[in-house]
Amino acid sequence: MLLMKPNCEHCDTDLPSESNDAMICSYECTFCVDCVSDVLDNVCPNCGGGFNKRPTRPSREWCKGVSTAHQPPSSERVLKPVDIEAHLHFAAEVKRVKPRKR
Ligand SMILES: [Zn+2]
Ligand SMILES: [Zn+2]
Repeated sequence: MLLMKPNCEHCDTDLPSESNDAMICSYECTFCVDCVSDVLDNVCPNCGGGFNKRPTRPSREWCKGVSTAHQPPSSERVLKPVDIEAHLHFAAEVKRVKPRKR
C-alpha cells in the first residue's frame, strides 16, 4: 500500500491525500510540485528516478473497508531538505536520461 507522507520532504509544505500538488517517485519519496520542477528538476535526490503525481485515496468508503478512514495517510512528517549544490551536480547527469529510461 502506498505510503502517503503528509508533507514535502524539502520545503515541508502540507500535502494531504486530496492535495493536487503531491508528487512521488517509485520509492514514495514525496515532494510538492514546485520543488519537483524548481529545485529537483524531476530528479529524485534519493534514487535518481522521476516523479509522477500522487493519487488521492478516497475519503469515502466506495468499496467496503477501503478509504482514508480505514487506511489513513501517514501522519509522520519526513523532512530531509535537499543540498541544492550537490543536487545540481547529481541532477545534471541524471536528467540527460528520460525518466522512463533511467
Ligand atoms: Zn516542496
Ligand atoms: Zn526516490
